[in-house]
Amino acid sequence: MPRECDILIIGAGIAGLRAALTASKYGKVILLTKGKIGESATEKAQGGIAAAIDHIRDSTDFHFEDTIKAGAGLCNKEAVRILVDEGVDRVKELIEMGAQFDRAETEGGFALALEGAHKQRRILHAGDATGAEIEKTLGYNVIKEGLVEVHPLTMGVKLLVKDNRCFGAIATDETYYSKATILATGGVCQIYLYNTNPEVATGDGIAMAYEAGAEVADMEFVQFHPTTLVHSKEFEDIVALPQFLISEAVRGEGGILLNNKGERFVSELAPRDIVSRAIVEEMEKTKSEHVFLKLEMKPEKIKKRFPVIYKTCLERGLDITQEMIPVAPGAHYFMGGIKTDVNGKTSIENLFAAGECASAGVHGANRLASNSLLDGLVFGHRAAESAKECLSQKIQKIKEDFDAGTGKLGNKELMRSSLALKTIMWKNVGIVRSAESLNDALEKLEKQNVTDIELKNMLCVSKLITRAAFDRMESRGAHFRSDYPKTDDTNWNKHLTYSKMAA
Ligand SMILES: Cc1cc2nc3c(=O)[nH]c(=O)nc-3n(C[C@H](O)[C@H](O)[C@H](O)COP(=O)(O)OP(=O)(O)OC[C@H]3O[C@@H](n4cnc5c(N)ncnc54)[C@H](O)[C@@H]3O)c2cc1C
Repeated sequence: MPRECDILIIGAGIAGLRAALTASKYGKVILLTKGKIGESATEKAQGGIAAAIDHIRDSTDFHFEDTIKAGAGLCNKEAVRILVDEGVDRVKELIEMGAQFDRAETEGGFALALEGAHKQRRILHAGDATGAEIEKTLGYNVIKEGLVEVHPLTMGVKLLVKDNRCFGAIATDETYYSKATILATGGVCQIYLYNTNPEVATGDGIAMAYEAGAEVADMEFVQFHPTTLVHSKEFEDIVALPQFLISEAVRGEGGILLNNKGERFVSELAPRDIVSRAIVEEMEKTKSEHVFLKLEMKPEKIKKRFPVIYKTCLERGLDITQEMIPVAPGAHYFMGGIKTDVNGKTSIENLFAAGECASAGVHGANRLASNSLLDGLVFGHRAAESAKECLSQKIQKIKEDFDAGTGKLGNKELMRSSLALKTIMWKNVGIVRSAESLNDALEKLEKQNVTDIELKNMLCVSKLITRAAFDRMESRGAHFRSDYPKTDDTNWNKHLTYSKMAA
């Protein structure tokens, strides 16, 4: 039986849950999530959430400046202003809802951390499990209010769009008709062989929106995190991808990067693209599979400040209070996505997007660390506020058939196809790109023949990322072309947008 609601939300990370809390004030909300609540990038976020809550040493103007600088010329200033200003209120609400961030005897009472490219300490954190604390708080409030119908293990597979207007979505179990639909499906980095993302991050929302005719933007900008744990050979077989992240906060607390000769080679708190490229260069020069991250903290402080990192490394045979951590970069965050305005509106009527699957231009060509949780919080809320405008309309049932297929990467054949795709993306469309590598990737991706829904979505976003990376003939932010190593403001200080209609 098809289901009906006022606002359909797809995704239960920070953006989807925050949107659900707001939307539930205005009408009947159904929330679909591919996994269980908690299977999300939000749950895995370690470092924290940035907000200028310290009015003495920090200000929203400083946060604005740092964000704009990191974005390398492509931030939408209006969106950034909203992010930093409204972010403070949204974070305070989160605290009122029960989120427990680490405290200190400072102005405002919070222990604020420093991360790369932030000029001030402004990162609220809950040890190194900040995302889990936020997801728990929002999830609890969504369920406690009892106003949102949550459908876990339900994957959205196709948007119902006719005459450029969205009427809901088809999911693996049912058709869901709605007056407004909000996509909050998270990122894409599972398309890369080495990545930090949860298994659910296969770009579904972006692919669904693109297939339905929506505009996507900034697809060439993928952020690679400089420090993911490189497993020792002994653990290689049993430790499945994704890679385990060693948070930027470790470098913020004085952790230093060393090559295999024990030499420092980069400023540890430089923007992520610079640190990632320096690591790759160093690995090539020293013919090593990793560099080292050395913590310069007392063992007790390490255990208290980074309990998850300490425990996880220990489980994998590494005592970080005694030993250096072998690290290498991995794909981590996607700046591009479904093009939206500052109210989460996409180019399709009644379709909204927020969080990592959306691109409102907040992050430009490179995201400032710890700004993405804030992005989900601020623009999840705004998308829901804006979706309420659709509620005076009537639900319309349009007929669409869709073979939902298997939905999950399960059997060996799927694993092989997925591995082939991830390898192409890692080798050819990774930290360093060139016309040659991108052309080669486009040819190989064109030959991929996949039937599984997730894999189709991964292929769709991979092609878009490769196409955009090919088209942008310069280097900017997280996009580095060895054949065009300089930033070219004269020709490329602009966003690249793509849509199926224009293709
Ligand atoms: C290891 C790690 C550490 C990080 N650390 C930080 C940090 O310290 N600070 C920071 O600001 N950012 C951090 N980030 C980035 C940040 O966590 C994400 O950008 C942010 O959480 C994205 O939120 P979201 O709500 O958009 O997506 P997610 O939290 O990923 O949620 C996406 C949701 O969509 C669901 N979904 C996906 N596809 C479908 C579908 N087809 N149908 C139904 N449901 C679907 C998923 O199941 C999930 O519930 C980190 C990311 C990772 C991976």
